[in-house]
Order: sequence, then structure tokens, then C-alpha cells
Amino acid sequence: MKYHHNIRFKKDVPLSQYTTIGLGGRAKYFVSCKTIEQVRECLIFAKEANLPVQILGGGSNTIFADEGFNGLVLRIELCGIALHEGKDRVLITAGAGEVWDKFVKYCVEKKLAGIECLSGIPGSVGATPIQNIGAYGQEVSNTIVSLNALDRKTLEPVEFKAEECDFNYRQSRFKSNDKNRYIILKVIYQLRKNGKPEFQYPELADYIKRTSNLYQSENGTPTLNTVRDAVLKLRKRKSMLVDPSDPNSRSIGSFFLNPTLSKEDFKRLVERFGISGGNTTIPSYYLHDGVKVPAGWLVEQCGFQRGYRRGGVGISSNHALAIINCGGTTTEVLDLAHDIQDTVFSKFGIHLEIEPEIVI
Ligand code: NAP
Repeated sequence: MKYHHNIRFKKDVPLSQYTTIGLGGRAKYFVSCKTIEQVRECLIFAKEANLPVQILGGGSNTIFADEGFNGLVLRIELCGIALHEGKDRVLITAGAGEVWDKFVKYCVEKKLAGIECLSGIPGSVGATPIQNIGAYGQEVSNTIVSLNALDRKTLEPVEFKAEECDFNYRQSRFKSNDKNRYIILKVIYQLRKNGKPEFQYPELADYIKRTSNLYQSENGTPTLNTVRDAVLKLRKRKSMLVDPSDPNSRSIGSFFLNPTLSKEDFKRLVERFGISGGNTTIPSYYLHDGVKVPAGWLVEQCGFQRGYRRGGVGISSNHALAIINCGGTTTEVLDLAHDIQDTVFSKFGIHLEIEPEIVI
């Protein structure tokens, strides 16, 4: 252990315990930061010592190299939730280190609507704006009002209004132009008081309809808690809830982004691969700017089926997009991921983009 003012630096810390996929060597230095002052001091220390810095939240979207990280890993653990009530809305501020699903549960219990479909997504509050997490028809950009971040260059806090975050499908400025420039400190969401849940997403709506007798409802409308419960069950079925007793959940969730093709490219794809009896056999969703094709379908078409195993890694038996660790290494995960990318590209001409942050 090494001390620097009020900071507790741990040395040679195995990173596998801090990632949901359970992989990664050791960090030379590791600090859990509970205050903004600690974050600042750590950045100054790293600069003086000429060490690279890696920011870590819940570890559900990061994969570290088997060799570890020869620098300083900062785990952001800034906590606290504060409510500011308006007439029918509530502004709710959450520290970046709050566990996202605990936060969703808290909001649902307080009958605050707007993030119930995002139940069960692993990770911390601070990570939510970075990739604009979304599921079952909701995404955090629908409810984020603003956020506070620390500028790693100036060490000053900066406020970003939602419209300045460049939110897009699983995208924001913090993942593109300003990647690694800011450390998110807290996020402010605007939720609806006693609001009705959103459950238009077909998979979710069908599930609720089919199981509605199992749930309580208010005036025939599912409650926020009904929707949360349904989402958790759907995610559990796909091993997309982190559960130590489920080996298929030892992953970072979806490994690849779902590609959106132009309408012309999609037409060509269908002509080549996907017509049977006059109908297209390729699952697809029309958006205003193109056609979304589920990456999981492309992966399975290339022979990487659910349940596939190679050495110590494989593909979840319950979801084609999750690469799982069954006692393997980061090298094996990346080899498999690159093989999948290459095969999908040679067969379909589509480049699958990797979703997690790979720190090598
Ligand atoms: P899935 O149901 O297998 O769907 C795969 C893809 O098809 C997704 O891109 C999804 O779009 C799209 N899709 C499915 N039904 C659709 C419909 N009726 N209309 C338009 N698009 C449709 O997805 P999954 O992997 O099991 O995940 C379930 C939900 O969790 C999805 O909403 C997915 O996006 C979300 N998820 C988010 C993250 C993240 O934020 N990083 C990671 C994993 C999963 P959408 O993506 O627009 O829903």
C-alpha cells in the first residue's frame, strides 16, 4: 500500500475481480475514489509519475489485457442521490458511482417513471451517458437533463446540458470526439412523478400481456414495478443479468453493436442471402436513416452458435451476442471476437463494431 496525502493507493491489484467478465491481469496502482478531490489528486499523482490512467466504473463494459495495466486504475465510487421535486416532474441527481440498477429500483419504488425499461443493465450511473444505454425502447438520453464531469486536461468540473452531449444510438461525445477527456461525476435525470410506465417495445409488451395475470396492475395498466419485473425476467432468460450462479452471464453483455445498413445495402443483402417464398428471412428493423440488422443473427449465420466453445471462452447458450469467459483469457476472447468479425465481414461484407472498451 502507498499513501499520497489522503489517497490510499493499492498496488498490483487483480483487475479480474472488478470486471463482470472476470478477466484481466493486475493494475500497477488502483484507487477507489469517493470524492472529486481524490480523483483530482490521483490525476496529479499520475501526471507527476508519468503513469497512464484508466477510469473504471462497474466493469461491465471493460476488458483488460492478460498482462494487466501498467498504470493507475481509478474506480469511480462517488455516491449520493438527491431529489428536487417539481409539480409533475422530479429532478434526481445521482453520483457516478451509484450502481445503476439499484438506482432504477429506487426510482421505481418512488413511482418515478422514465428508466424502468433500463432495469438490470449492469454498471454504474456514470457510464450511462457515455454509451447512452438503452433497452426495450428507452434510452437514458430521453431523461438526462445534464451532467457534471471533470475535465482531465484542466482538472476543472464542467457542466454539460443534454443537448451538448451529442447523444445518438449507444453513442455520445464521451465515446467519440471527447473519448477519455472527461470523468463523469454526477448525472441529473428528469423523471415523471406517478408516471405511467413505457412498454410499447413489442418483446416487452408481448411478455407483459402473456404473463399479465402474474402481475398487479393499476386500472388495467401495468405498474412501473410490473414493467421492471418483466424486463428483469426477460434479461435473466437471456443471461443478461449479472448472476454469479449463471456461467452464461460471465460476460460484458453484447460484444458487438447492431449494425444499421443503408436501405440500398440492405436490399443487396436480402437479394443475396435472404429470400424464401417471396419473403425476406433476414430479421430487420426499419429506421428513418437505414435498416437495423441484429448482430446476433449475423454471428449465428456464420457458424458461431449459442453455446459454442473454444478453449476457455465461448458464446453464451442464451444469447448469440455475449462472449463468455469459462476460465479463459482476454487473448482468447479477443481472438474469438476477431474471428467472428472476419467471418461476418467475408460472408456479408458487414463490419461488426466491438462494443466494450478494450484496454490493452
Ligand atoms: P434483441 O431483442 O435480440 O434485439 C436485437 C436488435 O434488434 C436490437 O438492436 C434491437 O433494437 C432490435 N429490435 C428488436 N426488436 C425490435 C423492434 N420491434 N423494433 C426495432 N428494433 C428492434 O436484443 P437483446 O440483445 O436481447 O437486447 C434487448 C434490449 O436490450 C434491446 O433493446 C437492446 O438494444 C438492449 N441492450 C442494450 C445494451 C446497451 O445499452 N449497451 C446492451 C445490450 C442490450 P434496439 O437496440 O433499438 O432495442
